[in-house]
Parts: sequence; structure tokens; C-alpha cells
Amino acid sequence: MPAATAIAQLRDRLGADVVTDDPAECWSYGYDNSRRHVAPAAVVRPDSPESVKTAIEICNQTRTPVTARGYGSGTTGAAVPSNGGIVLSTERLTTIHRIDPDNRAAVVQAGVTNGAVQRAVAEHGFFWAPDPTSADYSTVGGNLACNAAGPRAVKYGTTRDNTLGLRAVTGDGRELRTGVYTTKGVVGYDLTRLLIGSEGTLALITEATLMLRPLPEAICTIRAVYSDVNSAAAAVARIMAQPVIPRVLELMDEAATNLVRSSVTLPADGRALLLVEVDGPAAHLDDAAAAIHTVAGPGLVAFDQSVDDHHREELWSARRALSPALRTLAPEKINEDVVVPVSRLSELIAALVGIGNDHGVTIVNFGHAGNGNIHVNLLGQTDQLPDMRRCLAKLMQTVVSLGGTLSGEHGVGLDKRDFVGLEIEPETLGLMRAIKQQFDPNGILNPGKMFPDLPGL
Ligand SMILES: Cc1cc2nc3c(=O)[nH]c(=O)nc-3n(C[C@H](O)[C@H](O)[C@H](O)COP(=O)(O)OP(=O)(O)OC[C@H]3O[C@@H](n4cnc5c(N)ncnc54)[C@H](O)[C@@H]3O)c2cc1C
Repeated sequence: MPAATAIAQLRDRLGADVVTDDPAECWSYGYDNSRRHVAPAAVVRPDSPESVKTAIEICNQTRTPVTARGYGSGTTGAAVPSNGGIVLSTERLTTIHRIDPDNRAAVVQAGVTNGAVQRAVAEHGFFWAPDPTSADYSTVGGNLACNAAGPRAVKYGTTRDNTLGLRAVTGDGRELRTGVYTTKGVVGYDLTRLLIGSEGTLALITEATLMLRPLPEAICTIRAVYSDVNSAAAAVARIMAQPVIPRVLELMDEAATNLVRSSVTLPADGRALLLVEVDGPAAHLDDAAAAIHTVAGPGLVAFDQSVDDHHREELWSARRALSPALRTLAPEKINEDVVVPVSRLSELIAALVGIGNDHGVTIVNFGHAGNGNIHVNLLGQTDQLPDMRRCLAKLMQTVVSLGGTLSGEHGVGLDKRDFVGLEIEPETLGLMRAIKQQFDPNGILNPGKMFPDLPGL
């Protein structure tokens, strides 16, 4: 059935203010941060879970693809409507229904930004652990669909670890409520964790019950500068093996450290750095920082710590200067977010030096080392793109051979589909496809994403 039929029905049932096929508006809903672009046939902006259900019922009956969209900040093409159809934007689902300090929970609609949630719950002395850098321009629904996270995940976990339940609509228009309103619960299969990270391929999330944590009384930031990246990577494993769990444990390799040297004062012999934070009662932080210092060497060149907000910000400045500096380095950039066990970080970094040298590609590495999650940036001129793609394939093989995973937080989308078979065995992939079939029998939800093509297709 042509998309025009679906659009007419959507407009009829939901109203002209909810549905638009104006080409200029559709154009602006066709991209994400992967720089891919495909304009949808229409954009639907429901203002209630009930209208989401109606929209999906119509799309299912008319076999119209539906790509869910939060703020389009994803980096893998997952929100790009590559198979046509409609984009269903959650931008009007912005109600915070409840903040419940006694039960450490909040119930919010999917289109609320992460930043808005943080500000609202902070007034009650709480935070929601997922802290992507994109907090102010990414939605809770997008965070859930990608299992997004940030530096705090090393202590507090990812979106999946901090969500109690969901309200969602499957591809055939069934409304589900998953999970519990308690911090324990074991009745039935855990569909909450299944839907989180499913990139809009199983159901459209309309509402979430978030698990809140009390804001810490104080935070101590530490910047540990190293003579070389291997020493820094080895220190990561030692820090994670001792009892004080850092709330942040970020690494910058030599290329990353050199990039920010002109804007940040660093020791001349410093060629890598770790940014560490510990949090908790103010009276405990000196001991916690001392525990980190005890295991920080060898190779340590400088160790600065502070609980003062101004000085803490100065210690963060090297990390904050990095993303803007990276943008100026080369016209082409492939940014990956691979993960390896922390004990194998040194091997990953060594392999990356070899891969870069073999292909003449600049590689800059930094990221959430406490989780073994490294943002690997392959940089080059446009005519180097084939070499960069060869590096990428080698990187993915290396990560899997080290016992790691292709993506820690950005997800698969369109960009990593071809590599999924390296990590997930055919039998397991077959089971995943069967689960997709149960949730979305006609394959209308975000088609063409996450899974590699079937052989012969
Ligand atoms: C500058 C920058 C910094 C970033 N930093 C981080 C970071 O630190 N950590 C991190 O994890 N990510 C980061 N990201 C990636 C991105 O912001 C996150 O993946 C974010 O969670 C996406 O949210 P969104 O609302 O923009 O989702 P979109 O990009 O709109 O969508 C992403 C995926 O979620 C699906 N989706 C969206 N809403 C729903 C819904 N309600 N139900 C079902 N599926 C849905 C979409 O179909 C798509 O598959 C960053 C991106 C940028 C541009």
C-alpha cells in the first residue's frame, strides 16, 4: 500500500497538527549525527501514548516503516529512515509524571531530555545515572533505545542498570508495560532489559520508570599524568582491582594528550593521562583519593587532586578541550566506541598503534577506560577513506579477539551491521531475529537496522 494511504489515515485519526508531509519539515527529520540523510514520507508527532498506539496500528496495517526519533543525536544512522516510511518523533511526549524520593524512582515520558530529568530530580537531591555528553539534546527514549551511558557508568552502570520499567507499543500495536516499581523483582522474563538497547526495532517506548540515586555529598577529581599510555592503561586495571570504585575513570592516549597541549598546562614529559573521580561523604574522600594514588604508579609523572569546584573544572579542562580539537584535525573521522576487558586495554592500545602505522591513518584514543570503553577516532583526508575503512575492519576483529564488544554505548544502527556477525554467533542471531518477529511480525519498526543482511539477500 502506498505511503500516501497511510499518511491520509494517520491525518484522519490523529489530526493535521500531528502529521506532516511537508517536504521541508520531512527533510529536517531525515538525519542523525552519522551524517547520513534520508527524508521520510511523513513525520508524526503524537502527544500521548494512545496516539503512538494508533499511529503504529495504522502503519502496521499499511506495512509502513516506522523509525522512532528522539533528538537525532545518535551517531550510527539508527534514527535515519533508510527504508522510507514515517518518522515518529517523541518531541511532544515531554511530561515528567512523578518524582518519588521515598522509592527513589521517577516516571517520565520518552521525549523528555536527559538534562531535563537531571535538573528535575536534582531538586529532590537525586540523579539518574546515565550521563551522555549529549544529555541536553538527547531524550530518555533515545538513551533507552541505545543503552546510552557516560563517564559515571563505571560506578553507577548504564541506562539498562538504572531503569525499573517501561511502557511501550510493539510493531503490531500492542501496548506493553514491563518491569516493576520496586528495586527487586523476578516475575516473568525481563522485557525491560530486552527493550533497552533494541534501537527502536522491537517497540516504541512511550514512558519509563527510572531508578534514581542520591546525589553524593562531595566529589574529588584527580588528574594523573603518565610518561606513556601503557603505564596509564596498566594503572586503569590496578585502580579497578582495588576496593574504591571510581565514579569516573577516563583515559587519553598520547595523540589525544598532544592535541590539547596548547590549551592546557601539562608536564612536558606527560604523554597520557587519566581523569579519575571518587565521590561520597566529604570526610571519606581523602582516603579514597589516597587509595587511588597508592595503585597509580609506575609511570606516574604528576598527580593532582581537588574537591574545589573551580579547581576540579581546571583538571577536567584537558578532557573537555579534546572534542573541539579533534574536529579541526582532519576532514574525515570515523568514531567508534569499542569495549575490551580492562585488563586488556594495553593490548588494544598497542594493536591500534600497529593498525594506524600499517595503514598510514592517524588514530586518537580516549574514553571511559574504567569500563574498558574506548572512543577510537580514525582520522584522515577524504582520499584515505578506503584505508580508514580497512583500519575499522581490523579494529573490530581485534576487539572481538580480545574478548570485547563492538559498541559500548552508541549501538549498531546502520554503521556496524556488517560487523555484528564477528561478535554474535549465527544461532544466537537467529534467536534474536525470532524475538524481533514476535514483537514486530511485519517488520515495520526501524527496518534495516542492527542485524546484518541474511546470506543471499
Ligand atoms: C556530541 C555528542 C555526544 C554524545 N555523547 C554520548 C555519550 O557520552 N554517551 C552515549 O551513550 N551516547 C552519546 N552520544 C550519542 C547519542 O546522543 C545517544 O545515543 C542518545 O542516547 C540518542 O538519543 P536521541 O534522543 O538523540 O535518539 P535518536 O538519535 O533520535 O535515536 C537513536 C535511536 O533510538 C531510537 N529511539 C529514539 N526514541 C525512541 C523511543 N521512544 N522508542 C524506541 N526507540 C527510540 C531511534 O529509532 C534510534 O534507533 C552523543 C552524541 C553526540 C552528537
